[in-house]
Amino acid sequence: MSKIICDFCGATDTKDNPVIAGDNACICRACVNAAHEIMNGNLPIEENNKIEASELKEIKIKTPAELKKILDEYVIGQERAKKVLSVAVYNHYKRIFRHHEIDDDTELNKSNVLLIGPTGSGKTLLAQTISKYLDVPLAIADATSLTEAGYVGDDVENVVTRLVQAADGDIKKAERGIIFIDEVDKVARMSENRSITRDVSGEGVQQALLKIVEGSVVNVPPKGGRKHPGQDALQVDTTNILFICGGAFDGLEDIIKKKEGANILGFNQDKKTKNDQDKIISKVETDDLVKYGLIPELIGRLHMIATLNEITEDDMVHILTEPKNALIKQYIKLFEMDEVKLEFEKDALKELAKLAIARKTGARGLRSILEDIMLDIMFDLPKYKNKTVTITKEVVQKTEEPKVA
Ligand code: ADP
Repeated sequence: MSKIICDFCGATDTKDNPVIAGDNACICRACVNAAHEIMNGNLPIEENNKIEASELKEIKIKTPAELKKILDEYVIGQERAKKVLSVAVYNHYKRIFRHHEIDDDTELNKSNVLLIGPTGSGKTLLAQTISKYLDVPLAIADATSLTEAGYVGDDVENVVTRLVQAADGDIKKAERGIIFIDEVDKVARMSENRSITRDVSGEGVQQALLKIVEGSVVNVPPKGGRKHPGQDALQVDTTNILFICGGAFDGLEDIIKKKEGANILGFNQDKKTKNDQDKIISKVETDDLVKYGLIPELIGRLHMIATLNEITEDDMVHILTEPKNALIKQYIKLFEMDEVKLEFEKDALKELAKLAIARKTGARGLRSILEDIMLDIMFDLPKYKNKTVTITKEVVQKTEEPKVA
């Protein structure tokens, strides 16, 4: 006897997914359910937003704990920020891929994220790591480079264009991607508390950003780059794009302190440590950000706020040695390929950390400091075949040559 087959998806009749045969057509249970949902408006039916049943089955949303574990492999410290981001990303993709499971008209709002932390503390790294492991496209933009005139001009739209490029032109993929906007604090409008040179233009950029963060349809040129009058623009709906904003927000602690009262917190001005500063910043609330100069509408769209701590000397040493792609691990591998053993003394690592702290660019400074020190050694690398090269504190200080044994 020939098996009956669903005319919609080609599935054969099984116990789990039985196929009903009509006079002229057959349909399986999965397709009946999918059709039911579409008829009830539970699945978006616009071409661009349509999520194929097979796609739904394929995507396994990682749990917050799984996401955090991935972040732990690359990002040192910043526990709270990693947790906030893991939960935000989990909710975001649950909202996109599983909203058909909600059988009433509850709407799940998008949870965009605001990361507040000093430069080089890992904000961009967090966004990059999460996008890589979810296999969703990522576009990174600097708010200061966006159009100053404040119109919803090409510039803000270009960020979406870049996302489409990161998705290899796949609009559907881009519409579920991540946009990271750095330095949002630099487009704060003038507030009574601080004298900043940027003013209304910053607010204009914020308004333009708000439009895409809220969700709007943006026209992008089909091949990226500039728009040509002859080309039909492609339409990208930003509703399901996850926005992560970042900024250092220098001076924010003064606003928070003023509100809380320095005495209540018990922070003594003279003995203020970095730790105290991080603690104050972690108490940030949305009204502090309004005072800082972000427009309330934009803050209202950045539901989850996480603060990152300043990178300490100890953190620097961990960053050098622990992440999966840690700089020291990379150098050891490079040396191994030439059959040279590379070792770093503990004091050498500490000295590297100190030099990076002095640069005040967070962990970003580590790479160039290390590259500079390693250049001459790398140049002579083949000479050291089958030997062990040890980097000491003095090598980092450039007062001695490395030990070779
Ligand atoms: P920002 O906070 O300014 O966005 P980035 O995330 O771009 O800083 O950090 C710059 C570089 O410094 C990263 O590419 C990474 O190599 C290193 N880095 C910064 N913070 C961390 C961290 N917490 N853990 C591991 N590496 C870090």
